[in-house]
Amino acid sequence: MTDTNPSAPPDRRAELAAGLARVRARIADACAAAGRDRSEVTMIAVTKTYPASDVVALAGLGVADVGENRDQEAAGKAAEVAAAGATPRWHFIGRLQRNKCRSVVRYADVVQSVDSVRLARALDAAAAAERDRPLDVLVQVSVDGDAARGGALPGSVDPDAGLHPVAEAVAGAPGLRLAGLMAVAPLGWEPERAFARLAEVAREFRAAHPEAVALSAGMSGDLETAIGYGATHVRVGSALLGMRTTLR
Ligand SMILES: *Cc1c(COP(=O)(O)O)cnc(C)c1O
Repeated sequence: MTDTNPSAPPDRRAELAAGLARVRARIADACAAAGRDRSEVTMIAVTKTYPASDVVALAGLGVADVGENRDQEAAGKAAEVAAAGATPRWHFIGRLQRNKCRSVVRYADVVQSVDSVRLARALDAAAAAERDRPLDVLVQVSVDGDAARGGALPGSVDPDAGLHPVAEAVAGAPGLRLAGLMAVAPLGWEPERAFARLAEVAREFRAAHPEAVALSAGMSGDLETAIGYGATHVRVGSALLGMRTTLR
């Protein structure tokens, strides 16, 4: 971490502005095609592998929400961005180990990747210790039911990983606020099939949790399809910031 305010060079700022204009146009077109109001969809800029200076530049361009998937990287970046005077909402979107909860709840405004009762309890304890207001939580769901790849299991009675028990654990935790669902389209699935299935899961979920209306789905390659199936949040990395050189 540096003690100077991170500032992106002008050519990088122009690149980010161009990427942002393209992504915003795609979102607007997808909303129009789906007959939805543009204000129903929030874009989260996924800044993993990119420096704090990019986050500051994006915030300067009006991006209010950013996403990160590794605490090790995000904690320092969030501190640098705050030191530069930018105040985006931080969404933690990656696999979360219970021993990282105390760190994550210090800078995250939203954790989108809660997929077990044990993790919900650890996050609640961390939030109680570290925060003065509840943490927004999305329960990550597994669209294909493959527990190995993360995500709570819709329709499962598994007491730790079933979607219903996880949602109940979050809803009943004083340090957490159940805000909705998150999903990633499974590898090898057409986005159409994945997000249609997710929309079904979300419909049933909202019958039990009517306040938890957020649906975080769709990335650079499939955001149009996700918006067509009701996504309220799209998580966009490479289309905005460029292709990452590492595989994550
Ligand atoms: C990296 C990542 C994204 C963004 O992916 P892109 O294809 O670069 O838009 C979205 N969601 C999660 C959970 C991610 O890890």
